[in-house]
Amino acid sequence: MRLRNIPGSQERILENKYTIQTDGADGADYRGKWAKEFFHNDHPVHIEVGMGKGKFILEMARQNPDINYIGIEKYSSVLVRALDQREELESDNLLFLRMDAEDIDQYFAPGEVAKIYLNFSDPWPKDRHAKRRLTSRQFLERYDRFLVQDGSIQFKTDNRPLFDFSVEEIKDTGWILDECSFDLHADGPAPNNVMTEYEEKFFRKGNPICRLVCHRNP
Ligand code: SAM
Repeated sequence: MRLRNIPGSQERILENKYTIQTDGADGADYRGKWAKEFFHNDHPVHIEVGMGKGKFILEMARQNPDINYIGIEKYSSVLVRALDQREELESDNLLFLRMDAEDIDQYFAPGEVAKIYLNFSDPWPKDRHAKRRLTSRQFLERYDRFLVQDGSIQFKTDNRPLFDFSVEEIKDTGWILDECSFDLHADGPAPNNVMTEYEEKFFRKGNPICRLVCHRNP
């Protein structure tokens, strides 16, 4: 998702106390200290990589005040759309990081993150771009550097080729597949599932939604 440039979005992000822009202010300063020094607690940290306008992570933060959430988004013009709703959130457990996930392991220390959400990630359909997919082995290796021992990844998409690729990458790199569904909402909206913006759109169109959960091989 790439929206037209929104004038002033960079400035709004820089000024907002719940947003860190990694190439401006230095999020890397919090590496290994997100819970203690940013959120001032010892709650688990869960992240969404490629959060878009933040619908999913805002709702997760609302429902789970004892978890610290960090939403990561590459584009200011997209992230800025989440800020108004962030203002309405009464809890203090959600931060947005404007950064390219290519550098993600520079911002989290080993054992710092308990759960990673990847929702409707960009498919990068050309083979030569496979390493840019957020479920590629290159990204799995990055995530492995900072997930807790029993940490997990949840991935949802309506893109079947991307889903099949992800399952293969997971198996080939020795991760354990815990759950795998090719049609999550086959019997109506799945219970205990927070829909993302893209999920809602594609569910309404009738596209099957695929979902997997995996964890690293201890
Ligand atoms: N997760 C949201 C949802 O399910 O509604 C948005 C899905 S949208 C198709 C993918 C989002 O991931 C876009 O906002 C895009 O800018 C972001 N994104 C893609 N690659 C990224 C990267 N390397 N680092 C951070 N964000 C990225």
